[in-house]
Amino acid sequence: MATLIAVLAGDGIGPEIMREAVRALEAVAELGGHKFAFTEALIGGAAIDATGDSLPDDTARLCADADAVLLGAVGGPKWSDPNASIRPEQGLLSLRSAMGVYANLRPVKTHPALYASSPLKPGLLQGVDILVVRELTGGIYFGERQRDENSAMDVCRYERSEIERVVRMAAEFARQRRGKITSVDKANVLDTSRLWRSITEEIIGQEFNDVALEHLLVDAATMHLLSRPADFDVIVTENMFGDILTDEASMLCGSLGMLPSASLNQARRGLFEPIHGSAPDIAGRGIANPCGMILSAALLLRYGLGLQEESDRLERAVFDALQAGYRTADLTPVGQRSVSTADMGEAILKRFKDAA
Ligand code: NAD
Repeated sequence: MATLIAVLAGDGIGPEIMREAVRALEAVAELGGHKFAFTEALIGGAAIDATGDSLPDDTARLCADADAVLLGAVGGPKWSDPNASIRPEQGLLSLRSAMGVYANLRPVKTHPALYASSPLKPGLLQGVDILVVRELTGGIYFGERQRDENSAMDVCRYERSEIERVVRMAAEFARQRRGKITSVDKANVLDTSRLWRSITEEIIGQEFNDVALEHLLVDAATMHLLSRPADFDVIVTENMFGDILTDEASMLCGSLGMLPSASLNQARRGLFEPIHGSAPDIAGRGIANPCGMILSAALLLRYGLGLQEESDRLERAVFDALQAGYRTADLTPVGQRSVSTADMGEAILKRFKDAA
């Protein structure tokens, strides 16, 4: 039977980068003798326009049935009216919640080919290999909220069980890597962070004696990420802190367009998407960087389908293309020549096929 992959391209640059990721997965299937069935569905602004809903029932049903979900990005100025009753981002939050994908894995790995694209000095970038595990279905993005003309509130709430499960998953990954975990919180101010810290100490102390635990306050963590990035192995943190820290960390890799993510649930079934948004400022011009999207497809192969070898090969093809000098505009200094989204995708595909 074919493996069902739900394809949700979304808005802005979503469809442009998704095309390249699906082509890469088709090549993986063809060369490896796998059967992948791709089914497209609407989410975000495109879904609001077509159905009035940011996560239509058909899309939710498809994602519940699929072996893995690949997503581009949602949102854009067309749907950004602060008074709108439905926003594209709600579709994505509802999908994450419906799939129960509580752990968002965001690997941050530097590559010599992109040292020059990062604002940091090459000496600091050597050997950076971080796995950020961001809690994804709790915290302030999901809490009670209220707004009137002169005041507003967003509640940040965490349950013990939500913290335990994400810390456990992060520690399991640390065990398979370099055995170190950095927990990021704001325990000097926030009660949710104090709970986070004490449960993290409990879980690591009782169940992961072989894993070294370090705590950092989130404000200090932003600085340490830039001053000693190679020291980090696994970083585990709550929803909003993880969101912000990984956009910052993306600059270690040269561009926000480089970073992929995998969101996993208890059954390790997943949703795979780049960490960036729909980039409305460059949408429709064919210049978006498809690497974060293609690397998300590689994570789908590894974590979603257990195809480790294919995943490694696809990742290698991305870095081989970069090594050969292919660069989209976001990775290119002003005034220098860059390649289009399609050309970048083609260069990666060629290297993937040649290595087979
Ligand atoms: P963004 O990530 O879309 O873009 C930030 C900057 O990075 C822009 O200059 C953009 O051109 C650039 N960029 C992002 N991805 C790129 C790529 N692949 N190649 C080249 N350049 C790239 O963030 P934003 O501008 O703050 O938000 C735009 C919209 O995206 C908003 O509606 C926001 O709500 C939404 N958003 C969606 C997601 C998601 O779908 N997961 C995440 C973040 C933001």
